[in-house]
Formats: sequence, C-alpha cells, structure tokens
Amino acid sequence: MRKYEIYSILLKITAIIMVCVILPLSIIFFTIKSNQRKDAGETSFSELHDGFNYNNKTNVLKVSKSVASTIKQSENHDGEKRYVFKFEGTAIEHKFEVTDSISVDDSKCEITITTKKISVFDIDEDSNYYYIKQVDPRDRYEKIVIIDAGHGGGDSGAIVAGVHEKELDLAMALKVYEMFEQGDSGIKAYMTRYGDETIDKYDRPKIANGLADMFVSIHCNTYEDSSVYGASTHFALEEENELSRLNVTGYRLANIIQEKIVEELGTRDRGISADDDFVVVKQSKMPAVLIEMGYMTNAEERRKLTNEEYQTKAAKAVYEGIIEAFAYE
Ligand SMILES: [Zn+2]
Repeated sequence: MRKYEIYSILLKITAIIMVCVILPLSIIFFTIKSNQRKDAGETSFSELHDGFNYNNKTNVLKVSKSVASTIKQSENHDGEKRYVFKFEGTAIEHKFEVTDSISVDDSKCEITITTKKISVFDIDEDSNYYYIKQVDPRDRYEKIVIIDAGHGGGDSGAIVAGVHEKELDLAMALKVYEMFEQGDSGIKAYMTRYGDETIDKYDRPKIANGLADMFVSIHCNTYEDSSVYGASTHFALEEENELSRLNVTGYRLANIIQEKIVEELGTRDRGISADDDFVVVKQSKMPAVLIEMGYMTNAEERRKLTNEEYQTKAAKAVYEGIIEAFAYE
C-alpha cells in the first residue's frame, strides 16, 4: 500500500467518526444542556403562599391574579429598605426579606419586601400574573446622591446649650432631600437616615458605595473659642472615584458647595480642606464631602442654625451646589 493511500483511509475513518459519533454526541449534549437551562428558569420560582411565587435568582415575585386583582407600591422610607405593596384580593400579610427569612400572616392585603440594599421595584403584568421585579437603582436613575445627616439616635454629636447637633444635621439634610423630591433636577436623592436612628459611621459610606455618584454629609461644628464662627467643607485626600459617573472630584465638589453656602448664608468662609479624619468621606468611593455648616459654640451662629429659615437657606445652597456639581464637565 502506498503512503498516500494509508493517509486517505485514515482521513476517511476520521471523517466517519466525526459525522457518526462526535456530531450526534454534541447535539445530544447541547440539547440536554439547553433543556436543563429551561428547566432551571421554570422551576426556580418557589411557592411562598397560595398565588405567591418567588424567584430568588432573578428576584422576581410572581403574584397570581386569582388572589390579587390590583397591586400597587405604597410610599415608605424606613431607610429605603422596606417596601410595602398593597393589593385587592385574598387577605394575606406577606413579609419577606430578599435572600432571607419568610413569614406569612393571613390578615392584611399586603406584601412587605425587606432588602439588604436600597432597591427599586417595577410592577409588570401579563394576563395571569403580576411580576414585582427588584431593579438596581443605578439602572433606574442616571444621577444618585446620598445625603448624610450627621450622628443620630444614641449619638447626639455636639450638645451645646441644650441644642443637639444630630437634630440640626437632620433638619437641614431632610430639607435638601425634600428639594430633590419636589424639584426637577433629574437627580435621585437617598438619605442614610430619615429619622432619629443610630447608624455607625462606617455603615454610611457602605450605603453609598456601589449605589451613588456623590456623597454629601451635613454636620455642625464646635470650638473652645466661642468667637469662632463660619462654614467649612471637607473632602478626602485620596479619592477613589471609580464608581461615580461624574466628572467632578471631591475637591471640586467641596469648592462648589462651599461657595454656594457662603453666598447663601453670608457667613464667614472658613474654606475647604482635605481631611482624612472624616470616615464617611474617606470611605466613600465617589466624590464625597462633609460640610460643617456653622459653630454651635458661637451663640449668634447657634441661634441661626436652629432657625428654620436659616436651615432652608443652608439646604438650598447644598441643593444647588449638588446640581451644579452633577453638571460639571
Ligand atoms: Zn458632627
């Protein structure tokens, strides 16, 4: 037999093996695979209660129209991690934490979803079901700012002449938040606290990281010399802005906000400074600033800081500063 004949036979055998063995096996293998995927998609909904099914892979809650004829989300904050959906239909109060425990109480037409992170929900429907889908806020909002009211709960911050810093910080922060809620800036604001809650300073940047484009913390200052007054804004020395969709830096953000505050309040400009001592600013992986709106130890400034009109002016300065910083190119 000549050499080329051996090659020719080997080639034919290889071709036969390819067509008769490998090809059918591949087809069988991929068919099984794709069926498994389909099964996984269909069976990963687990029944929580009659008519309620939850898919913990896609975070979709499927509600049968046989138990709910209408469904809508009600307004609530609670740190933006508790979401209540009211519906008309079978009485059932259904609480569950996404990825955590599930409890059922057949008393109200209500489903409460508690999440570990700030979320947004979409409600879709087809002819048989409502689908409550958990959506990443970054997919919903192009611009997100976290407003951080200093201290709170067991941590009062400074207490001077019966005035608690945590209350001043919250009053001004809430006003900033409300301005975003009511305005048409296209910027979504969330707060680290909406009430008198204790939140660890290391947990505040955690709320913002991976979610927000900007972090703004509001505080009031104290000093041993009671003649000292004025506002200052602080940013972190080393900046990690990789998660922000902004062009502005912490330094630039501090500059913009400080300028607005001094202009609006007509207070003394104590300038901006890079300060690694402020945990909330240092740990935020985005342009972040901490504002010291004024000195509680200065009697005149303390009186102003407790005045609602003054607080509104301060909030307006922060609000406008944030808008300007988002537009910075
Ligand atoms: Zn403080």
